[in-house]
Amino acid sequence: MQERVKILVVDDLKENHLVMESVLSDPELEIIKALSGEEALLLCSEHDFAVVFMDVQMPNLDGFEVAEILRGIEKTKNIPIIFVTAISKELKSIFKGYEVGAVDYLSKPIDPIILRSKARIFKELYLQKKMIERQVVELQNQLNELIRIQLEKDEFENMSIEDELTKIYNRRGLDRFLNMQWSGCLRSDLPYSVLILDIDEFKNYNDNYGHLKGDVIIEAIAKSIEKSVFRPEDIVGRYGGDEFLVLMPNSNLDGAETIAKRILENVRALRIPHEFSRVSDQITVSIGIGTIKPSKELTIKHLIDLADRNLYNAKKNGRNQYYL
Ligand code: GH3
Ligand code: MG
Repeated sequence: MQERVKILVVDDLKENHLVMESVLSDPELEIIKALSGEEALLLCSEHDFAVVFMDVQMPNLDGFEVAEILRGIEKTKNIPIIFVTAISKELKSIFKGYEVGAVDYLSKPIDPIILRSKARIFKELYLQKKMIERQVVELQNQLNELIRIQLEKDEFENMSIEDELTKIYNRRGLDRFLNMQWSGCLRSDLPYSVLILDIDEFKNYNDNYGHLKGDVIIEAIAKSIEKSVFRPEDIVGRYGGDEFLVLMPNSNLDGAETIAKRILENVRALRIPHEFSRVSDQITVSIGIGTIKPSKELTIKHLIDLADRNLYNAKKNGRNQYYL
């Protein structure tokens, strides 16, 4: 059964309670009574009232004083108060009532029809307020659920396109960008460049320094490559093992060469000792550059093959260099 809407009647005379109660009698209403201002304050802190019918003249705390205290308390500051008084015709007391937050006035003797209609209005307002509060909670829950799903999705997708060791894109991530960017360049008739980069003598490094130290090198190289590209559309990823890819849409050979040079410099600047390399006494990389203007005949595969061949040439020519 739905909870009844509570209404508070504050009056120091029990007879008045009985009158109000009989007039307000409604199965959907629960009439709660207070015989003093003090009792009213206590009840307001315990219950959630749709409206308070407040007698003005009471011993100790009068109705205005009770209203003033209620306005000062967070939980009760918005309770609608209707003053019930025989002295309402005095202008002064009306103003005082509104100052302390009265929403309305009823003069004694109370007209039953007016009392009932006011109670009904505040019951409806209260029910609407509760409904809105429930809807807000419901909406907030739905929003939280959406955010949670989105986060899970992001996490899942990040996991699947991010390389765990270096936190740059993995092969799947690279493929995604490659396909999207390639189509863009094809449509706009723009060149597309890639760099394929491979760490030199890395097997030797692992064999002599250990796999864990090898991992640290892979991370350092990833950072170095990232540091070497500036355009937001350039994408750096780990192709696999000790191989990396840099995707550069709308980049010609000159642009690609500039990045390749910068990467070589940045990797050399790391000065990571590699005693067992036959190329240098420190870690070096080789880079194959591929640049193609996408067309119906020339596909992504042509581009990667070209860069791969050039990487092979860079290795064959002595490593620690790029090849066009
Ligand atoms: P080259 O100069 O011709 O490139 O010689 P290389 O020894 O680097 O030969 P290659 O590129 O074929 O060797 C790749 C090595 O990279 C083999 C493997 O031990 C190492 N490697 C691949 N993935 C990882 C990794 O995740 N962590 C570590 N530590 N090593 C890896
Ligand atoms: Mg290698």
